Amino acid sequence: MNTSTLSSLADHAAGGHAISLYAKPSDNFADKLLRSQQLLRDAEARHAPLTQASSLGVEDMVVTELIHQTGIQTRIFVLETGQLHAETLALLATLRTHYGREVDVFRPVAEDAAAFVAQNGPEAMYQSLALRKECCDIRKTRPLALALAGKKGWLTGLRREQSNARAEVGEIEEQPERAKINPIVDWTWGDVWHFVQLHNIPYNPLHNQFMPSIGCAPCTRAIAVGEDFRAGRWWWEDSSKECGLHVDGGRAKTIPIKEQA
Ligand code: SF4
Repeated sequence: MNTSTLSSLADHAAGGHAISLYAKPSDNFADKLLRSQQLLRDAEARHAPLTQASSLGVEDMVVTELIHQTGIQTRIFVLETGQLHAETLALLATLRTHYGREVDVFRPVAEDAAAFVAQNGPEAMYQSLALRKECCDIRKTRPLALALAGKKGWLTGLRREQSNARAEVGEIEEQPERAKINPIVDWTWGDVWHFVQLHNIPYNPLHNQFMPSIGCAPCTRAIAVGEDFRAGRWWWEDSSKECGLHVDGGRAKTIPIKEQA
């Protein structure tokens, strides 16, 4: 990690732009928090062994903090696609030291990723939806299957207000091989940043640059005021703004970020 990155990560702890802009808890935040903690304890009791899927986005950092506070037993994993921002990789290192725990890292099969680039070029994702999804399949979906193998439950930071495609997400989704538990599904953007501020949770400094949703570097840009949360993901596409890890249907929900305050 270079010194400028360290500096950026340190700056956030003192209260960066995102916290100043967004931290504002709901009136019933205390109830939501209790519910989230209960969901995690229930998940440990009913769906072990567990793992948390962390994109290192702020919602996932909140879930990791909740895991830490409740003390539930779970693994945590990150999909290192080979296309992440330097800031995201730096946060992975910070996550390990901040919580003093292991984080599992899953990467694409190197030969598959190299063959895809050799055949289609390094910017294939911009050429067609099919190529973009193939890239996501190689770099995300297949490694996800390995990350979830043998697990009975996985924890996510999905929130309903993130998009139309996520608007119907439940607290617990029973899947054929395991349960998917979404403990902060009804938290608002303001709740998330309030909790970050309250517990001095490390977060990706790219959130200070109007990137509410951070994925791979080639496929993430900042959003403008009034744009949807996920408008900066695959911005050139008229698609569901999903990579297939969680949901892959519906259109992005129109909740301009300015309405979240
Ligand atoms: S988000 Fe972009 S770079 Fe990352 S796996 Fe998908 S298409 Fe490839």
